[in-house]
Amino acid sequence: MVTRLVLFDIDGTLVLTGGAGMRAMNRACEDLVGHGNALDGIQLAGRTDWIILQDAAARVGRELHRDLRHELRTRYVVHLREEILLPGRGIKAVMPGIREALDALSERPDVALGLVTGNFIEGARIKLEHFDLWKYFRCGAYGDDASDRNALVPIAIRRAREARVADVSPACVVVIGDTPHDIACAQAAGAVSIGVATGHYTADQLRACGAEIVFSDLSDTEAFLRAIG
Ligand SMILES: [Mg+2]
Repeated sequence: MVTRLVLFDIDGTLVLTGGAGMRAMNRACEDLVGHGNALDGIQLAGRTDWIILQDAAARVGRELHRDLRHELRTRYVVHLREEILLPGRGIKAVMPGIREALDALSERPDVALGLVTGNFIEGARIKLEHFDLWKYFRCGAYGDDASDRNALVPIAIRRAREARVADVSPACVVVIGDTPHDIACAQAAGAVSIGVATGHYTADQLRACGAEIVFSDLSDTEAFLRAIG
């Protein structure tokens, strides 16, 4: 019987894509608002794709109305399919210990795995399929579902229940992420937060914003499994 729902963030937590997401968003903005570097200087880490696009559009003096939102998302997905194949800049890899941790958690009958991410669902799928990680996740809440990340954990819990993957209270949900936004969305929902310092934030920064448990990375599978409970 499933008694734990474990929800992973994607960027900086499961994988880094060498900037593929940012390049794809810049290309989408270039297609539709004629600005090739609309994302320069906009904070990406831990934020939802809708909020990022809203900031990018505002920057070039455009309102992100419904049609433009949907066109930008469509173009983003098209470009991401290409960009994810490129070596990119910086780190493009699965984060340390992630495959081992997901294999071990998948074996446990008391654990269900899901995603809670600011990525649009199609973007999440493209990124994780590239690294052969999509297969591990049975439910999730995505950037399409809300622009406010703090709304996502309750949505993931509801989806898990509807899909008969897990029927658990928020206290039995663990959220794993690399930014203060991940910790905040766990706290907002009454879930347990685990910070992992493989993205833009240090272990001390994640601790300072209230992460209950913090790892520098997840390479110690045993310690991570113990933290899950
Ligand atoms: Mg992240």
